[in-house]
Formats: sequence, structure tokens, C-alpha cells
Amino acid sequence: MALEELYKEVILDHYKSPRNKRALPGAELSCKKNNPLCGDEITIHAHLSDGRLAGIAFEGQGCSISQASASMLTEAVAGKSLQEAEGLADRFRGMMEGKVEPEEESFGDLVALRGVVKYPVRIKCAVLAWDVLQEALAGAGRAAEASH
Ligand code: ZN
Repeated sequence: MALEELYKEVILDHYKSPRNKRALPGAELSCKKNNPLCGDEITIHAHLSDGRLAGIAFEGQGCSISQASASMLTEAVAGKSLQEAEGLADRFRGMMEGKVEPEEESFGDLVALRGVVKYPVRIKCAVLAWDVLQEALAGAGRAAEASH
């Protein structure tokens, strides 16, 4: 199977069977954004424990790329510290700008989205979930500063 076909399969699998797609009652972090160009909508919920993303889930609707990216994100950042999640978000953005070579270990299925780089109008779809995550993380940072 050509690599590009394999990537498509992985994206479709996440779209059809999204991981961690549910509400997360009592989540400390919740953030929602949309991509009006495509009609995508994503909400990310996360539980924080000791500065880590102890639980993470998403809700949303939209195209296969936006929803698959959100599903992959929840798998990639679960259990990570806020800094690690922030770092992965930066590297993911770098990959979508064609500047960063993804490492399989931290990217996991996210590697499949690199095929989207060739379709500039879809890059926003792939990055939407990460915009939501980074806004949620920024909120967590401010809350932590306020409590110290
Ligand atoms: Zn989209």
C-alpha cells in the first residue's frame, strides 16, 4: 500500500471511530472554536491533575480531517504535562507548515496528517483542534499563576 493510501486509511479510521469523543463532566479545561471556512467545530475538555492532562476528550462536527485530527490529538497528549502538550502542538504546527519532520514516537497517528500539507485550504481543518488545545492550555497557565 502506498504511504499516501495508508495515511488516508488512518485518517478515515479516526473519523469513523473517533477516540475519546464524549463530554467530560467536571473538566477543568474546556474550550471551543470553529473554522468557518469549512464548518468545522471542535470543543476540547480536559482534566488537570498535578499539571498533567489526566483526562482529555473532544466533541465536534465537521470534515474528516478536522475530526480525525481532534481524535488523534486526544491520544497524543493524554497524560502529558502542559509543557509537553504545548511542545507537541508547536511541532505539529511545524509539520503542517512543512518545517518539522515528525518523530513517530510522540506523533503516533498524527503523522498521517502530513499528507494534508499539500492541500493548503485543508491545513486549517487539521490545525483547528490544536488551536483549541493551545487556547485551553493558555487558560490553564493563567489560572495557575493566579493561584500562586
Ligand atoms: Zn474542515
